[in-house]
Amino acid sequence: MTLPDLDFDDMDVEPGWMEVPPISLSPQFLEIAACPACRSGLAIDYEAGTLVCLNQDCALIYPVRDGIPILLIDEARRPEDLAPDHG
Ligand SMILES: [Zn+2]
Repeated sequence: MTLPDLDFDDMDVEPGWMEVPPISLSPQFLEIAACPACRSGLAIDYEAGTLVCLNQDCALIYPVRDGIPILLIDEARRPEDLAPDHG
């Protein structure tokens, strides 16, 4: 019994391309950043790539685009907006 000669292509990722982290916010930014709706502090949600208001009564979620946080109430979402069971 002989095994076929498997020819695997190189799985190397092309060099020169670095994964850009979705959020590159400095700690200094987080210190001064505040929720425009309630002036509470913000936390980074790395998994979702968003900023989240620390005030649980507010809890607005702000998008981050190209590493730039969009701290606008108009752009913010509420947790229930992101819940899968709507409609
Ligand atoms: Zn807030």
